[in-house]
This record gives sequence, C-alpha cells and structure tokens, in this order.
Amino acid sequence: MSMTSVKFALRIRPLSKKEIAQSCTEVISTIPETTQVVIGCDRSFTYDYVFPSDSFTRTYGQTGSGKTYSMGTNLEDTISPEHEGMVPRTIETLFQELTSRREKNPQCEFEVFVSFLELYNEDLIDLLNPLSRESGKKGKSELMIREDANGQIYCAGVKEVSVNSPEELLAKLYEGSTCRTIASTEMNLVSSRSHAIFSVILRQTRIESLEDSEPQSSHALQPSQPAAESSNKKKPKGLTVTITSKLHFVDLAGSDRLKRTNAVGDRAKEMIAINGGLLALGNVISALCDESRKVTHIPYRDSKLTRLLQDSLGGNSQTLMLACVSPADYNFIETLNTLKYANRAR
Ligand code: ADP
Ligand code: MG
Repeated sequence: MSMTSVKFALRIRPLSKKEIAQSCTEVISTIPETTQVVIGCDRSFTYDYVFPSDSFTRTYGQTGSGKTYSMGTNLEDTISPEHEGMVPRTIETLFQELTSRREKNPQCEFEVFVSFLELYNEDLIDLLNPLSRESGKKGKSELMIREDANGQIYCAGVKEVSVNSPEELLAKLYEGSTCRTIASTEMNLVSSRSHAIFSVILRQTRIESLEDSEPQSSHALQPSQPAAESSNKKKPKGLTVTITSKLHFVDLAGSDRLKRTNAVGDRAKEMIAINGGLLALGNVISALCDESRKVTHIPYRDSKLTRLLQDSLGGNSQTLMLACVSPADYNFIETLNTLKYANRAR
C-alpha cells in the first residue's frame, strides 16, 4: 500500500515596485480563514496551504513569480531572517535536531551528505563538480541515472560531499549556485530554464547488539568510520542498521508558455524539454494522488526529472509542491495555468 503524501501549497508574491509604478492591479485574492484563492471574478482553487502576498519544497511557477526567493537560494538578495527561504531554514532545523539526537543516542552515528544537480535539456550537470560542468556544457554529461538492487535511484558519478555543520552545508549550496550561474552564462541561458536539485542525505548508522549484552566496543562507533567498513571487521558483535533519508529541494524551471516568449530554434527546444519535464512531473503526481487507485502505472520514465526523483515521489516519501504566482493582471493567463497545474484534482 502506498503511503505517499503529496501536499499542494500556493504562494502569491506581492506586486513589485515596477508593477505598482505601472498601475498593475491584483487579479488573485485569498479568502480569509480558508485555503482558497479566487482569480478573476469567479474561478476558485483550493490548496493544502496558501501564503498570501503579505505573509511568508518543490517550487513551480512562471519566471519571476518567486520560486528561487521561496527556496532561499538566491545569492544576490539580502533577506531579513523572517523572510528567509526554505533551504536555509531547513538546514538550521536539521542540525539543531541532529545535535539533540546525538546527545540522546550516543550509540548512533549520524552523517550528512550533500549533492547538487542541474537538469538542463535532459542533460545532468553536477554543480559540485566543475569537471562535470565542462562535459555537461558540451551536452555529453557522464552522469547516469541508475537503480540499485533495492530499487533506490541514484545518479552514478555524482559527487556526494560529507558536511559537518550548517555553515559547511550552506557553503555547498552557495558553491553550487555560483557554478549554476557560471554555467548558465557560458551556455547563454537563464538559470530559470533549468531545474536545480539540491539534495541533503542523512545517514543514520546503529549497531544492534545480538543476544550478548556485553557493552559494545566503542572503537566501532567512531564517527569517521564508514558503516560498511566497520561491519566487515569482526569487532562489533551486532548488526549494523543503516537508515538513509533524502531531502530534495527542487527549484523547477519556469513554466512560461512557448507562445508568449516567442521562442524559436534552440530556445524552443529548451522550452519543449522544460515543459516535457513539468508535464511528466504533473502526471506522476496526479497518478500518485489518484485515490481510486485505478492508476497502477506511474509514468516515472517519461522524463529525467521524474526518473531522478522516482524514489522520492512515491513509497513512504512526502512531497510538497509549492506553486508561486504573480498577482499582476498582465500575468493572468500564466497565473491561471499555474493554479491549474498545482491543483490536486487536475
Ligand atoms: P523565479 O525564481 O520564480 O523566477 P524569483 O524568486 O527570482 O522568481 O523572484 C523574482 C523577484 O521577485 C526577485 O527580485 C524576488 O526578490 C522578488 N520576490 C519574489 N517573491 C517575493 C515575495 N514573496 N516577497 C517579496 N519579493 C519577492
Ligand atoms: Mg528562479
């Protein structure tokens, strides 16, 4: 039985200064005490959470709607702590929690790893490995999506860096984001035309003692010792139990329509790849949300994006889709499209 949970959230950004100067009006409003929004005069949509423009993850929406802002991965913006994005908040909470877990469970070893990938035109780029950026730029990435014997999806060749503090983790986030910006400039593209997948991997290792209650040898539990190695050496009398948890933050490419952007040539090819990925993601999510369980086939293989996220979009995973929209009148159709996309009952 599937235990998948998918939640849909909507965030409406405020009108920008420029939009106010141009006398744009707001076409989307929230209904107080509900999680409903109304666009235009009469079209309403309901989400699990709604963040109106005056308040405060997978983020989806047209370019400029606030996806990167909500992720908190924009390097240029200086943001006050109360408006901080999801990634820095999560990193802080994770390490606070780890500190208290380590105190309570000295027999457990907790390790944190990070990887940062960019998916552009179905090509994968490892943002923590500049060499991969070179080959990715030429459209011949060496990264491959594979499935291991346990059905775990992994990306062969991707760098997973061990980190020991929130500062180290944030440094990797910035390093990767800078690499993304450089790669974008070199390839003459705007980063909003690619998907960025920032993953935090938590590995918990515990030695479960077998029948004998003799105190466990402490040297087997030194933090620097990899789990696999310690279980090969016959020192600990017990079973090594490893639990791996993954947290993916996906900043999706802009969902802008082809027509509006007048894309031709490479740009059009790019848009088709983006839209293909977003369409596949939408289809996977609706298949997972199908309560009648009539849908037995989940179309993960339709795009690299869904393939990469396969084991995190099903099973016992939890997904939050945060859609970002602009309130301005001139974005009406884009906003309506986003509201429909992030709607459970599509
Ligand atoms: P996207 O990633 O969806 O293309 P951005 O996150 O880069 O869009 O946002 C575009 C601009 O709008 C940025 O200058 C950002 O600072 C601003 N912005 C976005 N969302 C908000 C918000 N909720 N409150 C204030 N400013 C915002
Ligand atoms: Mg962005």
